[in-house]
Formats: sequence, structure tokens, C-alpha cells
Amino acid sequence: MAFKARKQMNRKLVIISVLILSFLVFVAVILTAVHKRILPKAALIKGKIAIVIDDWGYNLSNLKDAGEIKQPLTCAVLPNLNNSALVARKLNSFGFEIILHLPMEPKEKYRLEKNTITTTMDALRIRSILDQDLASVLFAKGISNHMGSRITENSRVSALIISEVKRRKLYFLDSFVTAKSVCSLLAAKMKVRFAKRDIFLDNRDDPAYIKAQIFKLRDLAKKKGQAIGIGHDRRNTLAVLKEVIPQMVKDGYKFVFVSEIAK
Ligand SMILES: [Zn+2]
Repeated sequence: MAFKARKQMNRKLVIISVLILSFLVFVAVILTAVHKRILPKAALIKGKIAIVIDDWGYNLSNLKDAGEIKQPLTCAVLPNLNNSALVARKLNSFGFEIILHLPMEPKEKYRLEKNTITTTMDALRIRSILDQDLASVLFAKGISNHMGSRITENSRVSALIISEVKRRKLYFLDSFVTAKSVCSLLAAKMKVRFAKRDIFLDNRDDPAYIKAQIFKLRDLAKKKGQAIGIGHDRRNTLAVLKEVIPQMVKDGYKFVFVSEIAK
């Protein structure tokens, strides 16, 4: 009897051991599969790229082309134009990030937009302009400068703008139209989320030039881990982006909104 009982016990032990072993093998197989799916993807990201498209709001001509870009775009919309609100709504419905493209005084003699921020304005005037502008560009997650070489070199006015950015819990993207911009220093001091343009993509409205600039941006993203390029609401710019972005994604670059880079 004792021998039989022991034999039965042994059989039970064998069955339990086999069950435990099978379970462990099963868990190992699942974990390996999960690893294979997750790890190489994360390791493969060669750099983050944020593409900003400036000067939306003048017309509706390129909305359809923008909608065909199936990757994150950050769209800087000018305020107070006939199409500002509509364009912001459309671009937002495509899943793009919207920012207010705030007109600021340049050193050059360009034609200025309505309510362009000038060096003579005080805090109250700037606050009321921002109230009005943000009401015409809904969904804005941040603010960038349209022109503004004179303003972004001016500490007093830049600090007023950046403190408004902070009060409204937005981020500031410096289009960096002058190397003497004081915005990055101010944003760091005032603890405001900040990002800066690395490369302008379309200073020439020429597809070959634009493509070369985008590849420069890609190489910079690989070197630095991330890079921000600014182009404009133009047919050629959007067409080249639509053409080259899918291959860059396949090559391991990740397209992100500026909010993912601003810190
Ligand atoms: Zn602009």
C-alpha cells in the first residue's frame, strides 16, 4: 500500500512539474514576443522631427494638401484674418497641433499685420492683443513669432509676451529670425516651456532646395536627437513634405508636435 501510494504521489509530482514547466515556457514565449515587438521599435528611433508650417490664415488653398500629410504637423495660424478661425478649425480637425503665429515688429520694413506687437507697447496693450488673437485662433497650444526681429531682441517686450505665454499655460516657439534673440534666456529664467527653430525649410520656393533642407533637418535630428524645421503654407513645401516624410518614417525618424519637444 505504502509503495502504491508513493508511486501515485510521484506521478502527481511529475504531472505538477510538467504543468509548471509548460507554464514557464508559455510565459517565456509571451515575454519574448512582447520584447521583440517593443524593444527594437524604441531602439530604432533615429531622431524626433517637428515640422512647423507658418503663415496659415491668408487663404484656404493648401488645406487639402496639408490634410494628406498623415504625420504630426504643427500649424502656426495668423490671427484676425478672414480665414484664421476656419483654417485653425480645419487643421485641428486633421489632428494637427495649432499655435498662434503672433505678428511682431521686424527691423526690416515689411507690411505689418493688424495688431502687430511693437516695442512701444505696454503690458496691458499686449495682454489685450493676445486675448483678441487667441480668440481668433482657437485650440492654440503655443505661440510663435511672425517676423519680430526687433521684438525678440528687446528684453522688455519679449518678457511681457513670455509672461503672458506662461499665464496661459502655453509654450513659446522662437522662430529665431535673429541670432540676437533673448527669448530662450528669458523663457529659462521665467520657467516657461520653450522651443527654438533649427532650420527654415523653404527660404526658396523651389522643390529641390526644400528637399535638401528637409534632409539637413533629418541629419540634425539624428545628431541632436531632435530638430525643428519651419516651412510655410505653400504648395511646393507641402508637396515635398508629403513626398519625403513616409520614407523618413520607414528609416526610423519620428515626427512629433512641437509640444513634445518644448521644455
Ligand atoms: Zn510668419
